[in-house]
Amino acid sequence: MKLTFYGAAGEVTGSQHLLEIGDRRILFDCGLFQGHRAECRAKNEQFHCRPMDLDAVILSHAHIDHCGNLPGLHRHGFDGPVFCTGATADVAELMLNDAGKIQEEDARYLQKKLGSDHPPVDPLYDRSDVESLLKLVEPLDYHEWHQLAEDVRVRFSDAGHILGSAITELEVLEDGEVKRVVFTGDVGRRGLPLLRDPEPVQGCDVLITESTYGNRVHSSPDDIKIELKRIIDEAYVVGGRVIIPAFSLGRTQHLVYFLNELSNENQLPPIPIFVDSPLARRVTSVYRDHANIMDAEVQELLRQDSDPFGFRGLQYVGSPQESAELNWRQGAFVVISASGMCESGRVVHHLKHAMPHIENTIVLIGFQGAHTSGRKIAERRPTVRIFDEDIPLRAHVEVLSGLSAHADALDFKWWFEQLHADSYIGQAFIVHGEGDGAKAQARTLEHLCDESPIIPQAGQSFEV
Ligand SMILES: [Zn+2]
Repeated sequence: MKLTFYGAAGEVTGSQHLLEIGDRRILFDCGLFQGHRAECRAKNEQFHCRPMDLDAVILSHAHIDHCGNLPGLHRHGFDGPVFCTGATADVAELMLNDAGKIQEEDARYLQKKLGSDHPPVDPLYDRSDVESLLKLVEPLDYHEWHQLAEDVRVRFSDAGHILGSAITELEVLEDGEVKRVVFTGDVGRRGLPLLRDPEPVQGCDVLITESTYGNRVHSSPDDIKIELKRIIDEAYVVGGRVIIPAFSLGRTQHLVYFLNELSNENQLPPIPIFVDSPLARRVTSVYRDHANIMDAEVQELLRQDSDPFGFRGLQYVGSPQESAELNWRQGAFVVISASGMCESGRVVHHLKHAMPHIENTIVLIGFQGAHTSGRKIAERRPTVRIFDEDIPLRAHVEVLSGLSAHADALDFKWWFEQLHADSYIGQAFIVHGEGDGAKAQARTLEHLCDESPIIPQAGQSFEV
């Protein structure tokens, strides 16, 4: 077998790893590179994995950095099945339709910028590519082996990262011996409400693991609830607004779930709370449909509270006009809006209006990639450039890491020990992490693996 890393190698976006088994070619994930626009466009346009020759894609979960370039892959000739869990199929449909629209808008924007003399700018893909790609998706149940070919089978376990996320076990029969490949996708956290904990799996010859927070320890989810209450109470007293940039998928649902709990416990002041993201609203509805794969606490809660994502005072904002009206609203209120790294989406307007005023608070709850506006706000720079304008940052900034949907160093250590217990880990490849996270992960794995862990560079191949 041969493994080649085409994305999320030394960085946290563009997840794409090719496994070749003889002449069979399976791609793990096909995510979009995100960040610097021009640089990413160039990376997203080129496929080094020969899309036409791929037999299948295995999709770990529906975050755009893992699934967002599937329509592009299809446009370049991939026509095989995409295997994922049922919940991932439902969430990916929403995410990719939204991404198709964004790609079309981006191409129009770029064309306008370059002028009409410039040759036509094609989107990476459009909504028709998304539509025909979605027909290739084949949902598989968790915990059941599925035969992909006579000598290859696959099984998904819950990764506990977002709804539908999966850890993939792939078994290959080679010269009468079974070789096991485990791909973690993104691993979630233990003890975070809503989703089940990441499920342990047993041993493997080849491990491909993410490492986003391999060097951090998050605060506990209970602390986050206390912090959220404190921030909202303080905003209520001073009449300020609280802006929470959050990914539409995953983080927003966790946040609303916590606020629902606080509301059920009568711990919230009478403050309006707005979820201002049409995508988040649609994703939340898919979460409601798949409540059966959430953790035991949710099953218990559903007996008394029919909607864990709705409570008095919470409103899901619809039209762009309703969203814009929030900019001029007086008094204390909370807005949860996308995108999570403050680079695009409706939250950018909310930030622009909130940042210059000291009574307001910006709450960052997720990983902020290098060079993003979110990272600059987290670093509390005196000004942050928004819509080509330097906006003074006088608002209070709170950084809460406890709501991250990614495992931290302790979660990883636990999960690797489970993987190793009663079995072994042969060769580990560490992906989906910036420098320090990946190096820390290598140190954690060093004594558990037969071979020294490898942090691959983009484009590197390894015989396994
Ligand atoms: Zn993810």
